Amino acid sequence: MLWLSLIFLTAALLVIWRQGKRLAALRETHESLVRRLKAEHQMELAQGLASSDAVIQSMEEGLLQLDANGRVMHANAAMRSLFKLDDSAKGRTVMEAMRIHQVQDIVQRTFQEGRVLEAEIEMTELGGPVRCFQVNSARIPDATGGGRGAVLVFHDISRLKLLEQTRREFVANVSHELRTPLSIIKGYAETLTTMPVDAAMTQKFASIMERHADRLTALVDDLLTISGLESGQMRMNVLPVELHKVVQRVVDELEEKASFKDVELVNDVPGGMAVPADSGRLQQVLTNLIDNAIKYGREHGRVMIAASLSDDEVLISVNDDGAGIPKEARERVFERFYRVDKARSRDQGGTGLGLSIVKHIVQAHGGRVWVEASEMGGARFCLTLPLKRNC
Ligand code: ADP
Repeated sequence: MLWLSLIFLTAALLVIWRQGKRLAALRETHESLVRRLKAEHQMELAQGLASSDAVIQSMEEGLLQLDANGRVMHANAAMRSLFKLDDSAKGRTVMEAMRIHQVQDIVQRTFQEGRVLEAEIEMTELGGPVRCFQVNSARIPDATGGGRGAVLVFHDISRLKLLEQTRREFVANVSHELRTPLSIIKGYAETLTTMPVDAAMTQKFASIMERHADRLTALVDDLLTISGLESGQMRMNVLPVELHKVVQRVVDELEEKASFKDVELVNDVPGGMAVPADSGRLQQVLTNLIDNAIKYGREHGRVMIAASLSDDEVLISVNDDGAGIPKEARERVFERFYRVDKARSRDQGGTGLGLSIVKHIVQAHGGRVWVEASEMGGARFCLTLPLKRNC
């Protein structure tokens, strides 16, 4: 009986021991599984963090992360470069790190109001250009509904603002330029229809109306040319052109106009000089420059067109002996609607767009254009055209 009990007890112990071993093995498997899962999870987390950090660092927008006390925790690469922040910014308040009151105000409002904010800030560095930023900010909530910190995103909209301003000025200028001849035409038309005028007066009024209608047409033509050139839709058909011949064609066309002021036009371009250019566009450039030289040159004066070749470009110049252009206006005359003497330009039927068109065409050829004082006493407009085009 005792034996039987001993055998039973031993068997029971064996079973318990074996079960224990199995349990230990199972526990080990379970723990190693948990360890593996943990490691995988951490790896995934690290990869996730690394990729979001890569996204944040490569963002074009500046990103600033603040802690619950409004102190800088993190600034991405764009933020550091936009606002010249270095590592010393970390741990400082926005005001200490950036010294921009407008940003400080946004931070304060973000913490107080707890909602997503959108604001625009404008700032000028000493002697620098105006810089504009669109700022979006949000408070990072914690579990209790309080603030764990805030995130601010800065989007540089300076270029956009500049474009918007240029567009607004352009529209205002165009409207003004259109309105002037239109109101003159309307005024004379009203006089003709409401008042008795003799034949001589009618003739005079009609010719004034015609002149201003011509000005309107010229303005619309120039606007269409500028818009075509700026949108890049106007293709340059560049082929070798004989420069002397192109200049002569323009001189012949403007001869009559020059003769009214007794201006002598001299084509000093050597024969046989072939330059790669779009013949029609080059003719337009020369027409604008020679026409200006006649318009703004002096009576009984001289306009001379010359050209010379260097290794890689041709230099063409249009010289006159008029009043010339003051130094401070020499770069600005190539801007749309800029005139040195507004009244004189309008009087001559000018649109204020001629030199801007010249600049666009020359640049589309890969060349440069500028104006300087001429040895003849007036203005010397110079342009270069490359002899070998890259495209
Ligand atoms: P506009 O239609 O007024 O002539 P442009 O763009 O051709 O417009 O020229 C811009 C301004 O540059 C002119 O209004 C004029 O004040 C000045 N300008 C151009 N060419 C000459 C020149 N040869 N001599 C003096 N001033 C000139």
